[in-house]
Amino acid sequence: MPSKLSFGSFCVHEAEEVRNTKPHVLPIYATSSFVFEDIEEGMDIFSGKRTGHVYGRYGNPTIDTMQNKLAALEVFGSDLKASGVLCSSGMSAISTLILACLKAGDKVLTQGNIYGGTTELFIKILAKFSIEPIFVDLNNETEIEEAIKAKPSIKMIYFETPANPTLACVDVKSIAELGKKHNVLTVADNTFCTPYLQQPLLMGVDFVVHSTTKFLNGHGNGLAGIIISTDLDFMKAKVWQAMKLLGTNCNPFDAWLINNGLKTLELRMDRHCSNAMAIATFLEAHPAVAKVNYPGLKSHPHHSIAKKQMRQFGALMSFELKGGFDAGVKFMNKVKLCVLAPTLGDVDTLVLHPASSSHINIPKELREKNGITDGMIRLSVGIENEADLIADLQQAIA
Ligand SMILES: *Cc1c(COP(=O)(O)O)cnc(C)c1O
Repeated sequence: MPSKLSFGSFCVHEAEEVRNTKPHVLPIYATSSFVFEDIEEGMDIFSGKRTGHVYGRYGNPTIDTMQNKLAALEVFGSDLKASGVLCSSGMSAISTLILACLKAGDKVLTQGNIYGGTTELFIKILAKFSIEPIFVDLNNETEIEEAIKAKPSIKMIYFETPANPTLACVDVKSIAELGKKHNVLTVADNTFCTPYLQQPLLMGVDFVVHSTTKFLNGHGNGLAGIIISTDLDFMKAKVWQAMKLLGTNCNPFDAWLINNGLKTLELRMDRHCSNAMAIATFLEAHPAVAKVNYPGLKSHPHHSIAKKQMRQFGALMSFELKGGFDAGVKFMNKVKLCVLAPTLGDVDTLVLHPASSSHINIPKELREKNGITDGMIRLSVGIENEADLIADLQQAIA
């Protein structure tokens, strides 16, 4: 900086950064752009001769560090290399990936029970651009193959396992194989599992997406989403480009919150899963409960699929109160420790009564067709003390 600056100019310009040692924890780089030492450096970075940060929408040290760590976790324990692109939310990761992969006229094979926002994205937004979903039973290989043969415009299979609200599972390996056989891209939303419980890329899936808002952050204080793939060239050329041009980039603060959350991922998931197993067992034995949907229970129709591809069975479950709609409403008003919040994957236990909340405007017949009955309660089991949770559920059901 020139030595003879006026007071005002001195105030305006960045001060000399004092940093002699490396920070122990990843800093939040709250900057919208990066400066070049000289014009040659700028030219090299813009032309791709060397890597470097330019503008916050393209990349940022906090964000890039986190997307690399999440990508490494998704292929952890294998020789594969993966690349990630962090986005502003789970929905923005999903829409960015689809727009990066598909064009007008292409179709997506999917199932009726994926995340509600994703279904709406297909029907209300992507359909306007002639990218349409076809809903099939993804557990039925014949149905998948017949659909692909009948419509060569199917370019993607998009799935979730386990999926709301019945925790239905699909066989990841067999879907990945069908995708490869028919030259159709496969995408798994791995939000419910995190790479600690399930690694779809290692089973041959092309892309994994997450709402990191849920278990990866884990503390319910930030929104973000990520796209991860082992096709490094495609990620750089198409996915990163789509993120950059759509402006679906994550912000450094939310990326930094994921950094905090990830440190305890294994501890949290172990506790989420052991609490969930204990609660599912308790509920299944309760006389006021008609049914429990938890993939860890032998009674779950997809228990064997879950066992094959998941290390543990996750934190989500649903159960049906015999007393129907009124019992569901009463239960919600009686819980003391469990929290009424429309999200999942936080450290505290969250309860949802879909018939009186998220699905209140959906006709009963349609809702029940997707397994959402009047007395159904969804639980995202937290990491509280197991006995406290069971006591709370016990008194609320009573
Ligand atoms: C929450 C969620 C999403 C959407 O993520 P946001 O971060 O809310 O945009 C997508 N898929 C699943 C399975 C989710 O639970």
